[in-house]
Amino acid sequence: MREKADTDLVRRQNRLLLLEALRQHGPLARVEMGRHSGLSPASITSISSQLIADGILQEVPDGQQHAAPMRRGRPITQLDINPRAAHVVAVKISIDGIEMALADGRGGILARGTSRISTYGAEPQAFGARVAEEIAALLARARVPAKRVARIGFAVQGVADSKAGTVVWSPAFRTRNIPVSAAVQDRLGIACSIGNDANMIAEGLIGSDRARYGGTAAVVFMGYGVGMGLILNGQVYHGPTGAAAEFGHMNHRPGGPMCRCGRRGCVEAYVADYSLLRWASGAAETQAPSFNAIPEQEMLALEQAARAGDPRAKGAYAAAGEALGFGLARLIAILTPSRIVLAGPGTRAMELIAPHLRKALEEGVVDELRRNVEIETVPIGMDMIIKGTIDGALRHVDREIFAHGPFGRRARVAESIA
Ligand SMILES: [Zn+2]
Repeated sequence: MREKADTDLVRRQNRLLLLEALRQHGPLARVEMGRHSGLSPASITSISSQLIADGILQEVPDGQQHAAPMRRGRPITQLDINPRAAHVVAVKISIDGIEMALADGRGGILARGTSRISTYGAEPQAFGARVAEEIAALLARARVPAKRVARIGFAVQGVADSKAGTVVWSPAFRTRNIPVSAAVQDRLGIACSIGNDANMIAEGLIGSDRARYGGTAAVVFMGYGVGMGLILNGQVYHGPTGAAAEFGHMNHRPGGPMCRCGRRGCVEAYVADYSLLRWASGAAETQAPSFNAIPEQEMLALEQAARAGDPRAKGAYAAAGEALGFGLARLIAILTPSRIVLAGPGTRAMELIAPHLRKALEEGVVDELRRNVEIETVPIGMDMIIKGTIDGALRHVDREIFAHGPFGRRARVAESIA
C-alpha cells in the first residue's frame, strides 16, 4: 500500500511539473519540457501521453507551432495545455460592482461581463446568490455549461477569509463577514476561492515571469485602497485565513488620519485616493473617509494641481511617499525581498511620490538591507487583477485536479471545496 501511495505521489508531482513548465513557457517540444522540468525523456514520454489521454494536453497542429525546434527540416511536435480541458471564472468585487471573465484552460479570455451590483447597499445574505446569477448569465452567453468550469476565483478589495469563503471587511460593503463562496458553490456547483485583489496581482506576476517574481517579492497596490501581495519562495503567502500582508492597514502614525478600516494612521490613510484628496482639501484628519468610488478625473485633477505646484496637493503626495517609504522600510528589514513592485492607478503620480519615498527608505532602513531590493513600478492596467485571478485559479486546478486526472468527475469538485 505504502509503495502504491509513493508511486501516486511521484506521478502527481511529475504531472504538475510538466503543467507548470507549459504554463510558464507556453507550447513546448518534449525535449524542451525535459529541460524545464528536469524530468527524464522516458518520464516525459509517459507523463505527456497520460496527460494527452486525459484530454489535458494536446499536440499543437503543424503550422500553429511557436518557434519549434527543427529536426531534419521538420518541426518537432509541440505540446500545449488543451484549452477545453477545463474553464475558470474570475470575478473582481469592488465598490463599483462586479467584473467577470470566463477563461479557457490556457487562460485565454472567452467572455467578459460587468454588473453594477451596488455592493455597499447590498443585502449581505443575498449578495452571494446575486453574484451566482450574474456568473450563470455569463456562462449562458458564452454557451459554456457550469459543469465545464473547474473553479471560480474571487478577488476583493479589503480582507477576505479564504477558508470561510467570506469578505471579512471591505470598503465595498457596509457590513462585515459577507458570505460569497458558499452561496455560489450551492447554486452553481463550482468550487470557489476568494482572496484579496493585491494577492491576485501577485499571482499574475508569478504567472507572467516566474524567474523575476518567483523568489521573495512584494507587490503593493495603490489606488482606491492600499493592498499587498506577498510572494515567499515563489508562492503567494495567504496566511492561515487568507488575510495576510495587510500592508495598507499597518500603522504609520498612531492617532493619524482616519482610515476606511476604522483605525487611525494606517499607511492607506495617507496613500489611497481618498486619503490624498482629504489631505489636499485641507480637511481634518478626523474627517471620516469617503466610501464612494472616486472618479478617475478627480485624481487626474489632483495630480495636475500638484504638478502645477499647488502646495496642498504637493503636500498630499509628499505625505503619501513618506508613509509608503517608512512602511516599505519595515518590510525590507523583516523580509529583505529581492523585489518590490508598485502597481495600480496610484503609481501614475509616482514622480510626485518617489523623492519622499526614497528619503523615508534611506531614513528607515540601513543601506546594507536596502541596496539588495529592487523597487519597480509596473504599468497601471486594472486588468492585472482579473488576469491574476485567472492564473491563480488555473494553478489551483493544476494542483488539485489535473495532477490527479481529468476534470469532469463531480467528486473532484466536492473534494476541492472541502
Ligand atoms: Zn486601516
